[in-house]
Amino acid sequence: MSEPFLKVEHLTKHYPLSAGFLKKPSLFVRAVEDVSFSVAAGETLCIVGESGCGKSTVARLLMRLVNPTGGRVLIDGTDIASLEKHELRAWRRRMQMVFQDPYSSLNPRLTAGQIITEPLENFEPLSGKQRNALAANLLEKVGLSSEMMHRLPSELSGGQRQRLGIARALSLEPSLIILDEAVSALDVSVQAQILNLLMDLQQEMGIAFVFISHDLGVVEHIGHRIAVMYLGRIVELATCEALFANPSHPYTEALIAAAPVPDPTRIRSATLVEGEVPSPINPPSGCAFHPRCPLAVERCRILVPPLVSMPDGRALACHVRAPDETMPALSSLPATLVNSTLV
Ligand code: ADP
Ligand code: MG
Repeated sequence: MSEPFLKVEHLTKHYPLSAGFLKKPSLFVRAVEDVSFSVAAGETLCIVGESGCGKSTVARLLMRLVNPTGGRVLIDGTDIASLEKHELRAWRRRMQMVFQDPYSSLNPRLTAGQIITEPLENFEPLSGKQRNALAANLLEKVGLSSEMMHRLPSELSGGQRQRLGIARALSLEPSLIILDEAVSALDVSVQAQILNLLMDLQQEMGIAFVFISHDLGVVEHIGHRIAVMYLGRIVELATCEALFANPSHPYTEALIAAAPVPDPTRIRSATLVEGEVPSPINPPSGCAFHPRCPLAVERCRILVPPLVSMPDGRALACHVRAPDETMPALSSLPATLVNSTLV
């Protein structure tokens, strides 16, 4: 099998909480903990989970906008941390990002044409003619009229602005685009149009997507595989079909049960999951989901469940549904550990 385009290994990000002048921080926000996944060329991997579970931090780590506390990001087998500055620049052409709010991520003083061609012009000078041709071509690719190249972002609708953000990301012909809540601010009908556009572009150009959303209803349409995150960790990773037909992690089950779905036969529960999302500054011991989990047993309180590969191809982090034989028995652990519920 060929090497996946993007591979993430044990990625971790702890943000120190400021402790005052010259003091060493003693508290950390554990935004991302031991996250591993891969994305093949032309594939869409979705990352879902409630607000604050670390999705945007994963995106920032992939783009190297923040440095990881631990773990690695490999592009075509190369660790991006090992790259020199000029190599990193070349690599950045291959990965682009589209944000949730195209209004704040697009320069309000530039025209649509300038916005689209700016990334390429950072790499090579373009003549006026080349610039116009490129802008017209990319606008057309995302379903906008080439006449829009003279408009300012404020003169476009939300959906048009998001198409513009996608055109800008396409200008460097990247191998992968990270979309962080890229359709979350749009009306449902506009969302559907943008999702269709993305799928068409993928078909045509073979681009891979990392598609981040808190909304499971959205990722069901676009995802090949889906990673479900809870408090910084991936708790389940499965193909889209497997995840929706047969969610295995109790948290995934709860998310799907609560997702607004157009299928009236699917029963929807009113609340997501009992209880609050705990703080990533002081996450619960063991499995971070255990205080809200209907299946939790004693070991869930004590040991962090590893992400186990299941016979059906999914990966699951759950002591009850995916017991890991290699983990220690509770009886072999020091009594202080078991009683204090610390890991
Ligand atoms: P999501 O995108 O899933 O909503 P984020 O990755 O934005 O989650 O945030 C994960 C956690 O990290 C949150 O608790 C958030 O408050 C915290 N966080 C994000 N960025 C920073 C930062 N720069 N400094 C401190 N904490 C941060
Ligand atoms: Mg976010």
